[in-house]
Amino acid sequence: MTFGVGLLVPGSMNKKIGVYICHCGTNIAATVDCHELARFAATLPGVKVSRDYRYLCSDPGQDLIKRDIREDSIDRVVIAACSPRMHEMTFRNAISSEGLNPYFLNIANIREQCSWVHKDREKATDKAKQILRAAVARVLCQEALTARKVEVNPSALVVGAGIAGIQAALTMANEGMKVFLIERSPYIGGHMAQLDKTFPTLDCASCIFTPKTVEVAQNKNIELHVCSEVAEVKGYVGNFTVTIKKQPTYVDHSRCTGCGDCMEACVLKKGVPSEFEEGMAMRRAIYIPFPQAIPMKATVDKESCLLLSKGKCKKACVEACKAGAIDFEQKEQTIEKEVGSIIIATGYDLFDPYLLPQYGYGIYEDVITNLQFERLASPSGPTRGEVLLKDGTIPKGIAFLHCIGSRDENANLYCSRVCCMASMKQALLAKEKTGAEIYEFYIDINAFGKGYQEFYKMVREEGIYFIRGKGSDIFKRDGRLVVAAEDTLLGTPLEISVDMVVLGTGLTTRHDAEKVAQVFGISQSADRFFMEAHPKLKPVSTNMDGIFLAGCCQGPKDIPDTVAQASAAAAEAISLANKGEIEIEPTTAWIDPELCAGCKLCIEICPYSAIDFLEMKGISAVNEALCKGCGACAAICPNKAARQNHFTQDQVLSEVEGLVT
Ligand SMILES: Cc1cc2nc3c(=O)[nH]c(=O)nc-3n(C[C@H](O)[C@H](O)[C@H](O)COP(=O)(O)OP(=O)(O)OC[C@H]3O[C@@H](n4cnc5c(N)ncnc54)[C@H](O)[C@@H]3O)c2cc1C
Repeated sequence: MTFGVGLLVPGSMNKKIGVYICHCGTNIAATVDCHELARFAATLPGVKVSRDYRYLCSDPGQDLIKRDIREDSIDRVVIAACSPRMHEMTFRNAISSEGLNPYFLNIANIREQCSWVHKDREKATDKAKQILRAAVARVLCQEALTARKVEVNPSALVVGAGIAGIQAALTMANEGMKVFLIERSPYIGGHMAQLDKTFPTLDCASCIFTPKTVEVAQNKNIELHVCSEVAEVKGYVGNFTVTIKKQPTYVDHSRCTGCGDCMEACVLKKGVPSEFEEGMAMRRAIYIPFPQAIPMKATVDKESCLLLSKGKCKKACVEACKAGAIDFEQKEQTIEKEVGSIIIATGYDLFDPYLLPQYGYGIYEDVITNLQFERLASPSGPTRGEVLLKDGTIPKGIAFLHCIGSRDENANLYCSRVCCMASMKQALLAKEKTGAEIYEFYIDINAFGKGYQEFYKMVREEGIYFIRGKGSDIFKRDGRLVVAAEDTLLGTPLEISVDMVVLGTGLTTRHDAEKVAQVFGISQSADRFFMEAHPKLKPVSTNMDGIFLAGCCQGPKDIPDTVAQASAAAAEAISLANKGEIEIEPTTAWIDPELCAGCKLCIEICPYSAIDFLEMKGISAVNEALCKGCGACAAICPNKAARQNHFTQDQVLSEVEGLVT
């Protein structure tokens, strides 16, 4: 293949292309001969100016391009540099500041797709020439496009009222935004409400948490909906219409005083396992889950209520309620809200310990999860904060097993990040409360946060035994539980007898994460947590503009990181609301009504649900605000009715021809 022979494109002679080759320090220049590339570019049709420069993204680099547009009337620009994901916007802004349409720019990626993946300088330079020639051929066919503006509704919806959702809702509400806070369970707080003390400072969870939940209840800008879930989301950034399904609580919350008389009267005396107490205590069919619950209102669980599940009950609760709040006529409600942004904060589920039967969960009653231990240690928990065995006695030996369901090829490969610290916190509390011999079975200690390493050191000094080796099996011998493991420091197998085993169960996605992802049109990573738009540069955004992530729904994290991320998501939503209007990228698809046969293939393939079928006209139409310009519709349309702005057939083919000529 010979280089330097220009590809003659009709009309190329009227265009004045400026080509700019970036050295990116030595990132590109070490592998690609940038001077040679600039010389080559000068021979291509339509190219008026060709330069190479150390860092084009720097101010002087951009000034170089701007000056050429001003002084040499350059009307098309090709930048050979890094991926367009990095600096396309930088250069679009630069050229539009000189009055050139920003879509007269094309980026030739000669870093990620060339210099970083090749070693041979000559061959890499040849490949860079090919990429550049294709980019020049394409820019000649590019058309001017204009961004459309849409108004932004200044209110927001937050899904999930754990600490992440609460933090996000309060941050926005305190900025004057109207916030709809949607919580599935009858109370707010999520997992943090279940914790006893929090690492590394050991302050009591409810002492730092309840001021926030009370503030939610008092904040006039927050409209809280408990027992509610989002069923459907329509619209686009700045203008979402959200349909919420609100389950009946069978208690009129405007009348309920939270006195608890109904709970006392409930005929289901034996009760059912309390979800809040992780099954370690029972609750009635009508209940308030814990003493500081917000809202402090009773809820009827229709599964366990004898009237609602079996149609037979004396309705003692109705009689006992002096406020006349109990209302068995309540029905599911459908509510619609219009919002400009959405923050998803649906949190995590604990890894299911039944999936690893070797640890004896559900077989031995004194094998419990770490969350169950939190409830045991809590003064508001089933034992009023005493760490006791099921038979009511104090344990003499307790083993904490790390990485149950995490860093495990048979469960989840990822590290759940908080379990090491939670296990060490619990070991310290157990030592204080029982004086028992405490053993920590660990693989590595993950003490990553501020003050965490110091906490680990302090725990070691409290006489707790650290055994480097993952517990592999639990069985009973002589009435005691035995933990089998291999001490990997000594290289010997060992067995240790204890009375209680606490499994450091990891964090997983919510069981219905896939359904939630579908409702909101967002993606999941390989680990099934919701996926951010960019792991480093857009960690709270999603692939859907205007929908943000906060807390453990995006990946396991501790409370400080959760709060920081929730504040960041709120800041994104606030900045969106403050803009008042936003520009919609014009690189979207459109459907030619003359050619559309109404086959709906485009609707089926569109991953963003951005195409509607117009029944009256029998054709499809793209909602530009939802379209992400992926091009799937244009590729599948048998009639070539679906087209993709900025990726027209001419543009794509000229690029391909430029590549192969
Ligand atoms: C045993 C244990 C001990 C821990 N100890 C500490 C500690 O000491 N210090 C620390 O920093 N971190 C600790 N953590 C981590 C801490 O629990 C999390 O960082 C924090 O709870 C994450 O909050 P979140 O709001 O993201 O999620 P969650 O607390 O899970 O809250 C999510 C909320 O969303 C609701 N929800 C879920 N799905 C939906 C839906 N579809 N629609 C509406 N609502 C929905 C849920 O009901 C819940 O209220 C511990 C974790 C464990 C397991």
